[in-house]
Amino acid sequence: MTSSTPPSPPASKASATYQAALERSDAIAARIRTNPEEFKMLTGERPTGALHIGHYFGSIANRLKLQSSNVEILLILADYQVITDREVAGDIRGSVRDVILDNLAAGIDPDRATIFTHSSVPALNQLLLPFLSLVSVAELQRNPTVKEEATTAGITSINGLMLTYPVHQAADILFCKANVVPVGRDQLPHIEQTRVVARRFNDKYGATFPEPSALLSEAPLILGTDGTKMSKSKGNVIELRMSADETAKKIKGAKTDSERQITYDPQSRPEVANLVQLIALCEGGDPYAIAEEIGDGGGGGLKRRLTDAINTHFAPLRARRAELSADPAIVDDVLARGNAAANEIAEATLDEVRERMGMTYP
Ligand code: ATP
Ligand code: MG
Repeated sequence: MTSSTPPSPPASKASATYQAALERSDAIAARIRTNPEEFKMLTGERPTGALHIGHYFGSIANRLKLQSSNVEILLILADYQVITDREVAGDIRGSVRDVILDNLAAGIDPDRATIFTHSSVPALNQLLLPFLSLVSVAELQRNPTVKEEATTAGITSINGLMLTYPVHQAADILFCKANVVPVGRDQLPHIEQTRVVARRFNDKYGATFPEPSALLSEAPLILGTDGTKMSKSKGNVIELRMSADETAKKIKGAKTDSERQITYDPQSRPEVANLVQLIALCEGGDPYAIAEEIGDGGGGGLKRRLTDAINTHFAPLRARRAELSADPAIVDDVLARGNAAANEIAEATLDEVRERMGMTYP
């Protein structure tokens, strides 16, 4: 199947789509500042490991902003998504626990957020069936993120779940009628697919779902220590929970270049610029000024400053995480409440969908 997958859209079309998503994200951010009561947020992770600083700056920072604006928050642990690109699921329960601890340690309030595992919500999963009828196979095969993930995982034959997981993700978002989704750049094709599913369902069966928008951060694509997207699956991550020493060791091995003078130039020096940007995000400064301050300190100077910046910025999160992980009942309780709440929401939405489709029976 991979040999016959349709090509991705040309770069110009892809960047036009990215531009449109950026503009929509900016407009949504402005609207949230003035009318937060109009919004409901859903976002989440695949439970494939503990979270990293790419998650924090790409999505979690925006979740916290929404939470402080009193926007309703739902967090999904997409456990079925784990088996899209790997043979065995691994320690899903352990990863679910890690991801929840990371979110709570970052400041997500478990009394206000609905945190759930999507395999625990059958009515959500049932939405996948009508939604699959609204998309074409060619459309699914064009999804650039699915293709990239398959390549990264070394997959030569994409399985049916991997091909269709963007539609599953549409169900994850639409089951609760979320209209804002804080995500990194890699998720944009999936949010676009969700918008298409919502639009087609509404056109066919009557207005039911909102068309959700991605909320992008100022750092929608953090690179890992090898210079490619930081990803749990790739071993190129700086985890939020790492100790100061583990962080120093990871950063020491990060890819830079041979030029001694440090500059902030994302186009021609992406790896160096990524490290400078991370310093700026942790310290709250301007990346150009930070690069100038490091000056001819080279990769060594850059990495020392970044190590200090990360260790200082995340010290409170790490301390909170250590406290939370000492009590195993915390995560169990959060999930039990979250799964019950998510089931209630999903059943109401599925009832509405069946009604719209004329599938109500005695
Ligand atoms: P995996 O390798 O298992 O796919 P991942 O690191 O890509 O893991 P996900 O659970 O797939 O993490 O993604 C969770 C959220 O974090 C998504 O919104 C995604 O866009 C965002 N995110 C993940 N990696 C980055 C990154 N490097 N920079 C910015 N945002 C990111
Ligand atoms: Mg991913």
